[in-house]
Amino acid sequence: MDQLELLWELQKHDEKLKKIKAKLEELAKKGHIENMTIKIQNLELQLERRKKSIDESDKKLNKNSEILRDLNFQLDEIEKELYSGTITDLKQLDYMDKESKNIRKDINDVEIEIISLMEEIENFKIDIGKIEVEYENIKEEFKRYAEEYKKVTDELRQNAKEEIDYIYEISSKLEKGIYEKYKNIKNNKEKVMAEIIGDECSGCHMILPTYLINKVKESHEIVQCENCGRILYFVDNSQKLPLQ
Ligand SMILES: [Zn+2]
Repeated sequence: MDQLELLWELQKHDEKLKKIKAKLEELAKKGHIENMTIKIQNLELQLERRKKSIDESDKKLNKNSEILRDLNFQLDEIEKELYSGTITDLKQLDYMDKESKNIRKDINDVEIEIISLMEEIENFKIDIGKIEVEYENIKEEFKRYAEEYKKVTDELRQNAKEEIDYIYEISSKLEKGIYEKYKNIKNNKEKVMAEIIGDECSGCHMILPTYLINKVKESHEIVQCENCGRILYFVDNSQKLPLQ
């Protein structure tokens, strides 16, 4: 490979490395992992909240069961006295009868409260079941994605390393002055090399003088386009076509 061909190779590997770096950046930017992490945390929070709500409802339920036990005990006591026949005072009997009615009403209220608490707990449990399914699914998806992400990025990093090695190898074969010229142009232009297509510089579409084209085609000299400054290169396609 002569110096001009080395430059052309250098550009090819520079381009490849650039594409690999862009892909890696793109993957990092997508933030899919971040989004999934937020979603997982959110589901964990929802689960925690519902479990807390169940605990609270359970406490209320226990308290109400105690109240119910007390009320039933009070009712038993009053009714025992009411029907024992030992109390003959009408006023007192009337009072006790009212009291027993009040307790029955309270018992009814507490029972309704207990049923509604039990329903509430049941609904929380159903909710938890649904959230847990979603949670397991997203965790599984996260695991798969993280593995895939690692595989892809590892591969890209390996490719980048290979390209860097190629670039180093090619650069070391280039004459110092030529390599510096390449670097200087690269600071200002995305592509250092421009292919001669027909009689044009493919970088800026300027028509090139024949003597310049011949310098590149025939003597493989390092020639810059007079207009855009890119180093001119000629890809000889005729050799690749079997019919010509
Ligand atoms: Zn040009």
